[in-house]
Amino acid sequence: MDERYDIAIIGSGPAGLSAAINARIRNKKFILFGNKSLSQKAEKAHRVDNYLGFYNLTGSELNQNFAKHIVAMDIEIQEEKINMVYTMGDYYSIMAGNQVYEATTVILATGVSFGKALKGEEQFLGRGVSYCATCDAALYREKVVAIIGHSPHEEAEAQFMSEIASKVYYIPLYKGEPHLGPEIEIIRDIPVEIMGNQKVSALTLKNEIIEVDGVFILKEAVSPGQLVPGIKMDGNHIEVDRKMRTNLPGCFAAGDIVGAPYQFIKAAGEGNIAALTAVAYIDELKRKVKEN
Ligand SMILES: Cc1cc2nc3c(=O)[nH]c(=O)nc-3n(C[C@H](O)[C@H](O)[C@H](O)COP(=O)(O)OP(=O)(O)OC[C@H]3O[C@@H](n4cnc5c(N)ncnc54)[C@H](O)[C@@H]3O)c2cc1C
Repeated sequence: MDERYDIAIIGSGPAGLSAAINARIRNKKFILFGNKSLSQKAEKAHRVDNYLGFYNLTGSELNQNFAKHIVAMDIEIQEEKINMVYTMGDYYSIMAGNQVYEATTVILATGVSFGKALKGEEQFLGRGVSYCATCDAALYREKVVAIIGHSPHEEAEAQFMSEIASKVYYIPLYKGEPHLGPEIEIIRDIPVEIMGNQKVSALTLKNEIIEVDGVFILKEAVSPGQLVPGIKMDGNHIEVDRKMRTNLPGCFAAGDIVGAPYQFIKAAGEGNIAALTAVAYIDELKRKVKEN
C-alpha cells in the first residue's frame, strides 16, 4: 500500500459511476471498485423508459452509454470485490482479498442484495460460514468446503479454493454451465440449511446432505452490515441523511443500498450527492489541517 485516495467508491452501477464522474469533475484522487461489465441489474432490464435523456433503451444499452461516459472522462474500474471496509479514525482501510487500500472517504454503492439468509448462515458465520474465499481460504487447507455461487463471477474463487482445500463442491445458483476444473464437483441442487454443532459439519441440500467443514456463500453484493462493521442500518438498507451521510464520518452511501425506490435515476442522483458531500468533507479536513 503506497498511496491514500481522497475517495474510494465501491460499486460500478449507476450510483458508483455517477459518484466517480463527479469526483473526477471535482479533481479528487479517487479509486472506483467494481466490474467492467458494470451493473448486472441494468443488463437484466428489458426496456428502460424512465431515465431522463435516454428514451426506450434496453438496460444493456443504458449500461453501454454509462461505459462510454466513463471512458470519455478517463475513469477506470479497479476490478476487485471489496470484502471489508474498516474505519481507522481519520481514514478507511478497504480490503480486497489480500490487497489493502486506504482512503479518506468511502462511498458505498454496492446495490441491494435480495434474498433471505440461509438457515444456519448467521449462526455459523465465522465458524465455518464465510463470504470471501480469497480471504479465508487458508483456514480450510486440506478440508472439505462447499461453495454456493450466485453468479459466474464467483467461479474464479472456487477455482482458487480448490488449490487449498482437499475437496470443493460447487453449487451454482444460476443458469449456464460453470467453467471449473474437473477436481471441483458441481452439484445442481438447492441449499436448504447449514448444520453443525460448534462449527459447520454439513450442508443440507434439497436432495442430499454433504459433509463439509466450511460453506462459502459468494454473492455479488455482500450485505452492508457485514461489509462495514459499525454502520447503522435501517432494516436491510444503510441509514443516510439527505446528503447521503452514514453514521460513520467520511462514509457515504448511494443507490439501492440506501433503500427503495430501486431506480436508475435515483441511484445516479444519489451518487452525485454522495460525491459532492465527500468533496466538501475532504476540503473541510484539508482546511482544518492548514489552520493548525
Ligand atoms: C430486471 C430489472 C429491471 C429494472 N428496470 C428498471 C427500469 O426500467 N428503470 C429503473 O429506473 N430501474 C430499473 N431497475 C432497477 C435498477 O437496476 C437499480 O435501481 C439500479 O441498478 C441501482 O443502481 P446501484 O448503482 O445502486 O446498484 P447496482 O446497479 O446493483 O450496482 C452495484 C454495483 O456494485 C458492484 N458491487 C457489489 N458489491 C461489490 C463489492 N463488494 N465490491 C465491489 N463491487 C461491488 C456490482 O458489481 C455492481 O457493479 C431494474 C432492475 C432489475 C433487476
